[in-house]
Amino acid sequence: TGTRTFFIGGNHKMNGSKSMLESLSKGMNESVESKENVEIFIAPSYPYLDFLSSRLDNKKFKVSGQNCYSVAKGAFTGEISANMLVDLGIPYVIIGHSERRNVFGESTDLITKKTKYAISLGLTVILCLGEQLDDRKSSKTEKVLSDQLKDFASFTPEEWSKIVIAYEPVWAIGTGVVATPQEAQDTHVFIRKWISENVSEDVAKKTSIMYGGSVNAENCQNLSKQSDIDGFLVGGASLIAADFITIINSAV
Ligand code: PEP
Repeated sequence: TGTRTFFIGGNHKMNGSKSMLESLSKGMNESVESKENVEIFIAPSYPYLDFLSSRLDNKKFKVSGQNCYSVAKGAFTGEISANMLVDLGIPYVIIGHSERRNVFGESTDLITKKTKYAISLGLTVILCLGEQLDDRKSSKTEKVLSDQLKDFASFTPEEWSKIVIAYEPVWAIGTGVVATPQEAQDTHVFIRKWISENVSEDVAKKTSIMYGGSVNAENCQNLSKQSDIDGFLVGGASLIAADFITIINSAV
């Protein structure tokens, strides 16, 4: 990963409770030591953002939104404003998760707009990309990723400095089928090459690319050794304190 920051994020999706977050925070506060150049965050379900933040050791851990909308406020029932995340002192937001794209039908166009807006407020965006199983089987992975990235070619280096990519092959999310270290490494190299050719070599070198998709306490070690894997976005295993702590402590 060189000089790039290594990010480890827990994506709780629509899971959790006060008692679960209480014990998870306790375990993490006790068992994780800060490391230079490693950033750790948890994206809890929205109602718990403030609760979780008040229990985690904020010197070691940050909280993140799981999503936000493309405007400040208004008649958008059920949506979350990036301005509210900023108001709560939250530095990160996940945008474009495959469940937002595929379950809730968010388009690449909307995801790009939301990212631009969140960045303009100073949030760091965890921008999720990834192909479906059929895409991989028919050798369309690079085409799908290029399409998802297309509109980010016009983002400035300053805007890119607020983007962390999370490569999450859809076939690996929640399935127990993890990409092999080589598959993940090769795809990360492709994404970095895309950034280099469409934005700049400097931005490509500096942008952290996390891997997500069935990362667990066993497979994290070999994945983290790959030179272009700059962190993990973890779903299921981030709900289990012992597993998430092992993943965090595997960080190089
Ligand atoms: C995710 O939801 O971002 C994810 C990677 O989930 P899991 O780790 O459960 O595959």
